[in-house]
Amino acid sequence: MAHYLDNAATTPVRQEAAQAALEAMTEGWGNPSARYDLGTRAAERLKEWRAEVALGFGCLPEEVFFTSCGTESDNWAIQAAVELNKRKGKHIVTTAIEHSAVLEPCRALERQGYEVTYLQPGRDGTISPEAVAAALREDTVLVSMMLVNNELGTILPVAEAARAIRAAGCPALLHCDAVQGFLKVPFTPKELGVDFLSISGHKIHAPKGIGAMYVRKGLNIQPMIRGGGQESGLRSGTEPTSQIAALAAAVKAGRETLEADLRHMADLKAYAVERLTVSVPGLRVLTEGSAPHILPITLPGYKSEVVVRFLSDLGIYVSSGSACHKGKPSHVFAALNLPKKERDGVLRVSFSYDTTREDVDALAQGLEQAGRQLFTALS
Ligand code: PLP
Repeated sequence: MAHYLDNAATTPVRQEAAQAALEAMTEGWGNPSARYDLGTRAAERLKEWRAEVALGFGCLPEEVFFTSCGTESDNWAIQAAVELNKRKGKHIVTTAIEHSAVLEPCRALERQGYEVTYLQPGRDGTISPEAVAAALREDTVLVSMMLVNNELGTILPVAEAARAIRAAGCPALLHCDAVQGFLKVPFTPKELGVDFLSISGHKIHAPKGIGAMYVRKGLNIQPMIRGGGQESGLRSGTEPTSQIAALAAAVKAGRETLEADLRHMADLKAYAVERLTVSVPGLRVLTEGSAPHILPITLPGYKSEVVVRFLSDLGIYVSSGSACHKGKPSHVFAALNLPKKERDGVLRVSFSYDTTREDVDALAQGLEQAGRQLFTALS
């Protein structure tokens, strides 16, 4: 039996989402722009799905735009914000522990003459609100800060960043990459005080290939893709109705059981901290973070890729840092200044509503076994 403990990398599509996609593909498959009833029915459903996602965010339906993934939502928000503020300055503030979906667009803007301040995390893996306030300038046009770090599970002070921007009276728009925070840490865009917010379907049990962006009402942003005028003329292309149906179904199902799911993940995380530290000699929890679903640990002296392969042979799946880095050393652990031995041994364990104590027990046993066998092999 497989034990999947890498839910921060991706999640299995839940039944409700798969069923909704199937229905949208086999029954309500009309083009929402078509004028006959098959089309108007699809347009009607699209309206309902948008409303469902808006309910999940706690915003207005017209503030929700569908995209192809979290990366596109991050890129679009960043481009849109600097374009809106192009006459106000060329300074951006972000953090050194953002996902590459934020860091790479920022680097591209640097090549176009923008100056970017990358805030460094403290040893606890978060960013101090004072550091955000200190970095703001009269010409700061964008602050981009993630809600939950994908490798550490730490929660960043997004609402405090919003307050700091207002207090400083600087023109910055605030973007939040909430890909790891959505349905894991309760929020609404209004409570956070953000102008833009990005999420991704495949982190919340919807399929890959669908994401969404919140844009605060009143912001007159530029189109991401020009063409037939879908998504209020801002992201053209016939709507991927089956993907959107699945996203809406995953949001609805996730919202309905949110409290119980959060409690379940937090309990599992506490159980894992205890079980793993007791059972596996030398194992250290890097940070207990604050999000309930991500637990970074390290086995100093071991190479995480070797341990990941060893566990995989036993049917246990965890990640060696972020799956999005494709083998490159993690910039997040580099920013934390971990000693090399600890950095090389980092593993990320991540939970979901359907992870069980048996999965954690299997991991503890697998790591114990890895400790014995890999140590023998190395000595
Ligand atoms: N932002 C964060 C924090 C992520 O963890 C990820 C994916 O791992 C992304 C953005 C990118 O999302 P997607 O895979 O949907 O492009």
